[in-house]
Amino acid sequence: MKALNELTIVEAGKRLRLPSQQEGAITVRNLWDACSTVAKEKNEKLNAYLEIFEADTVAIASAQKRITDGEMNPLCGIPLAIKDNLLIEGKIASAASKMLEKYVATYDATVIKKLKKAGALFIGRTNMDEFAMGSSTEHSAFGATKNPIDTTRVPGGSSGGSATAVAADMCIAALGSDTGGSIRQPASHTGIIGMKPTYGAVSRSGLIALGSSLDQVGPLTKSVEDAELLLSVIAGVDSLDATTIAPNLFPKREVPTKLCIGVPHHLITQDGVDGEVRRVFSETLKKLTEAGHTLVDITLPLSPYALAAYYIILPAELSTNLSRLDGIRYGNAVRGETLLDDYLLSRTEGFGTETRRRILLGTYILSAGYIDAYYRKGNTARSVLRKEYNEVFEKCDVVAFPTVPAPAFKFGEKTDNPLAMYLEDMFTVTANLTGMPAVSIPMGTVEKEGKQLPIGIHFTAPHQAESVLFAAAGAVEKLSA
Ligand code: GLN
Repeated sequence: MKALNELTIVEAGKRLRLPSQQEGAITVRNLWDACSTVAKEKNEKLNAYLEIFEADTVAIASAQKRITDGEMNPLCGIPLAIKDNLLIEGKIASAASKMLEKYVATYDATVIKKLKKAGALFIGRTNMDEFAMGSSTEHSAFGATKNPIDTTRVPGGSSGGSATAVAADMCIAALGSDTGGSIRQPASHTGIIGMKPTYGAVSRSGLIALGSSLDQVGPLTKSVEDAELLLSVIAGVDSLDATTIAPNLFPKREVPTKLCIGVPHHLITQDGVDGEVRRVFSETLKKLTEAGHTLVDITLPLSPYALAAYYIILPAELSTNLSRLDGIRYGNAVRGETLLDDYLLSRTEGFGTETRRRILLGTYILSAGYIDAYYRKGNTARSVLRKEYNEVFEKCDVVAFPTVPAPAFKFGEKTDNPLAMYLEDMFTVTANLTGMPAVSIPMGTVEKEGKQLPIGIHFTAPHQAESVLFAAAGAVEKLSA
């Protein structure tokens, strides 16, 4: 039998509801203790959590009472890990930055409010790349997180702490945020499921902003069913986030029993995609056709521009979002001789190298004279990408890629070469630019230096077609069942 910390949300929910004398019955406290103990044990080595919370006995007792009284919400009593850029009232939310090292949240993010209402429990706040910029969790001000499958390698990023916490069974499931792939990419590198919802499906209120037109909060889980459940609890229109959308804003898509999967072969054969990743991807597609699904060859001629557009739009947005962290209004405050010194010292000490690099880039992009040359062109690319995808979805239900061009890399391999790090995002950024939902699900492993490293297959679906997306993820999950 699985250890309690290894259970999925659905499995734990079933066992929490067994009559107390029956074999397999567990209590909320048992489940909490199992997750919390393993989290503390493993964290010394993995650094998945920046903080592991003490047991909230009131919340545990209340979740237990609700279950005993017949509460059916699947999240009730479930211990979750929360990325350090989501506000939990009374807890630090540092976005893994020195800038916010001492910031204590004064309110709950909407997703946290919803989870608390459902009776969920929080094990701790997870490590990440500073302000969610990065693909390896090496840009955290508090040390990198290690990949539990091979600790000489990165877990991916920026939600590397959340992904490791789930993959190493240091919680039952987790929340991350995804601006250009930060849920899906670490999910791929650690062998779990990571999902970015349609832009506007989940409220961003209480999420420390990176790129406001790209950010979405989403689930990292051990099963597709869990991802669907967790999303159903956190999604919904919110008066605190004007970009949240009604459930029927986009045309409803039927979920076909046999899917038509669009494959842009011309992108997958390009330079930079690992040969082994390509092989596992082709094998997975073949197995899907054997299971009755069909493949259609598609072309996305504008896709190669997505990464460039992303690395224009994102720095522009983050440079304005982070401008409030100046040591005067918010954030780390260092005092110098003059007001200018105050700004310079506070920001230089508070922000890490990658954050400073991107603030500079964003400020440059938005300055008079360059805004037309860069920012507006980036936005145009964004509209044409959306159009290109909408046309492709006339022919297929989902579009498939490998999530990342190669498996998890070694620590330090890309830290001195930002462009190499940015290339990690070549397949994931388009879903953020178009606002479409996307998921990464494990498709197998590739061998590197004698270790089997997990890799994911990535699906994108039309706006609000999350159910189609989960059907595709479920089809892949079934292959290994
Ligand atoms: N790796 C991407 C970046 O560095 C994505 C980040 C994210 O999704 N938060 O910007």
